[in-house]
Amino acid sequence: MQEWKPTACMLCENNCGIEAKISDDGQSIAKIRGDNLHPASQGYVCQKASRIDFYQNGIDRIKQPLKRTTSGSYEEISWDTAITEIAEKFVAVKNSFGGDKVFYYGGGGQGNHLPASYGMSTISALGGRYRSNALAQEKTGEGWVSASMFGAYAQRGDFENCDVAVFLGKNPWHSHGLQRSRVTLREIAKDPKRTLVVFDPRVSETAEIANIHVRVKPGGDAWALAALIAIMLQENLEKSDWIKEHVSDFEEIRDIFGQLNIDKYCVWAGVDQEQMRQLAKVLFASDKIAWFEDLGVQMSRNSTLVSYLHRLCWLVTGSFGKKGSQYIPNTMRPLMGSNPSLAKRSPVAGAPLLGGMVPCNVIAEEILSDHPERYRAMLIESANPAHSLADTKSFVKAMAALELTVVIDVAMTETARNADYVLPAKTQYEKAEATFFNFEHPANYFQLRQPILEPPSDANVLSEAEIHARLVEAIGEMPAEVAELKEIMRSDGLLALTKAFTQFGRDNPMLNRLAPVALYRVMENILPSGSETAATLLPVTLFVAQNEPACLERAGISGHDTEEIAVSLFNRIIASPHGFVYSIDAEHSSWDRVRTGSGLINATIPVLLPELHALSDGPNELTSEQFPFILSAGERRPYTANTILRGKDWRKKDAEGALRISPEDASDLGLDSGDYRILTTASGSVSVVVEISTRMARGHISLPNGFGLDSATGKDSFKRAGIATNELTAAADRDFLAGTPRHKQVPANLSQAF
Ligand code: SF4
Repeated sequence: MQEWKPTACMLCENNCGIEAKISDDGQSIAKIRGDNLHPASQGYVCQKASRIDFYQNGIDRIKQPLKRTTSGSYEEISWDTAITEIAEKFVAVKNSFGGDKVFYYGGGGQGNHLPASYGMSTISALGGRYRSNALAQEKTGEGWVSASMFGAYAQRGDFENCDVAVFLGKNPWHSHGLQRSRVTLREIAKDPKRTLVVFDPRVSETAEIANIHVRVKPGGDAWALAALIAIMLQENLEKSDWIKEHVSDFEEIRDIFGQLNIDKYCVWAGVDQEQMRQLAKVLFASDKIAWFEDLGVQMSRNSTLVSYLHRLCWLVTGSFGKKGSQYIPNTMRPLMGSNPSLAKRSPVAGAPLLGGMVPCNVIAEEILSDHPERYRAMLIESANPAHSLADTKSFVKAMAALELTVVIDVAMTETARNADYVLPAKTQYEKAEATFFNFEHPANYFQLRQPILEPPSDANVLSEAEIHARLVEAIGEMPAEVAELKEIMRSDGLLALTKAFTQFGRDNPMLNRLAPVALYRVMENILPSGSETAATLLPVTLFVAQNEPACLERAGISGHDTEEIAVSLFNRIIASPHGFVYSIDAEHSSWDRVRTGSGLINATIPVLLPELHALSDGPNELTSEQFPFILSAGERRPYTANTILRGKDWRKKDAEGALRISPEDASDLGLDSGDYRILTTASGSVSVVVEISTRMARGHISLPNGFGLDSATGKDSFKRAGIATNELTAAADRDFLAGTPRHKQVPANLSQAF
């Protein structure tokens, strides 16, 4: 067997550093261990990491460019034919309808973030404006609230140093989201001086070890948080001096919560008022509180409002900008924009583009309209929206209504099976790759993973960088400066190239928009072999060097000017396969990143105040005689991994993804674990296998995420593993502002199997 090679697990956003041993035939990842040299994960891995060869050698791997025939099947075509035809068809759409009718979806996933920049080059070459990805069905509401209050998109909690850890709709035992999460959770739970708090309707693995488990009703989070804030303000348990020093417009908030009826709100939230009062005292007594909200509240009723109430909790408890509390990390590259303006809207539905993205739930609706501004073509990359977005049938119908659909991926996904062209990409272990999920503090890290495997000999695959460079060339938009920049790089090196690139970009803004593919062409055959796809990081390093030179200098990265610092950072990236610390924050760094103009945190978000007031009407009843259960569609479990791993063989248990139901409900229905029932929602019906689980409350049932993928078993035959939950969800069931789906509370019924 070959030597251990550093890389990372790509099955969740933590991207733990791992070392992999490649089999003797060079075709598979035979062994995995945690990488002790990785600066963030430090050797930590969970049980999923050992399964990554099910991605590398996945059952649905695409190995040739494919074109759909008139019969609906696919024929293999050459790369030249594929690139020429796709470029011609995109240009035809641009000429007929406008370049802004070409929509870009995806470009990411859990470990594959460099392709998005290359994909945006193709979209820019066509004049495209609209894009989206999975963040726009999860995090855009939270990002917009952050931007409105702090002027910055990303905030995280310092769980290593906190005294109180609060998780809202999050089970980090399985969904992680903080480095070495199980170690950190155990440390907090076991320490008598520290308190672990979980808001969750389920007795999740994290709730099980929590000191305080607020077992809120499904969908009751807004009332629970509002009641908590009201208790703290009405009982003078807020950090008033801190608020005076750091917060603007707090008096309006004090007035609203001063009049709030705590009794009623606790009843509506389904929480014990005494427990909430106890929690308020715990929070008041602590100066180090770290918070984390996740999909349990973001894919829920009042999603954006809950993100706002969550942040009001920070203000009341003084949980920002100090050790053990919330911070704004120095990210290498922001995952979404931080402009809180609602002026930019999608062209048909008029949905606000929070973080610059069209809400996932309106994409199909916009395509299927007869509006003249509707999208006409779509480029989809490293994403499976036909499976992962609400209302699968509508999305598939929308794809069929477009003039052109192109999918770039490693696997023949449910989305690829509905595309006009399918282009096969290298896997994340066959090229240099990275993620921008680096949110650590005070020391933040970055890892460029080097390729550890060659593609299979029968795979005619390319990196996304090469695919998009060819597409931009075929469209006729590769910047003319490439030849000159290449010569400068060859003769004078990287620093001269960086200075020339900066200068040329000032004269030709299109060079900046197409920088990823242009620099890829400039640096190919010059960067160390295998690192070519890292070319897109040069503008990223310039951005960080310009904005955060002091943080870089504390990490030992310096230079006489911005370009020199950027080159120093870029060289460190290339030379650090285990990852490295590139940025170290000072005590005030988070405050320096508050970009509200005044430097104070905005307590009020006028757009959300009517929603806040409307809570006093109480919640709408979600259940009915027809649908007596609340289904959480998409629960993280020990063997779920979005749709990155296909088939069921990678799972060591729960191969079908059982429907969890409480013992009380099971008893009422005469159910045993292993029984089959028909699960029905307003959108569809499926047959499910049942698992009786004490984690569930009466009336609440759950299905895991990432199941229901169709793997090919023959030319036109497929085998499905588990339930595709989005056959049960409705795109119209979404947040009023962010458009995020309410997957966690789908009214449902269970009936006898056919
Ligand atoms: S799935 Fe587990 S090993 Fe992989 S990145 Fe996430 S926490 Fe780390």
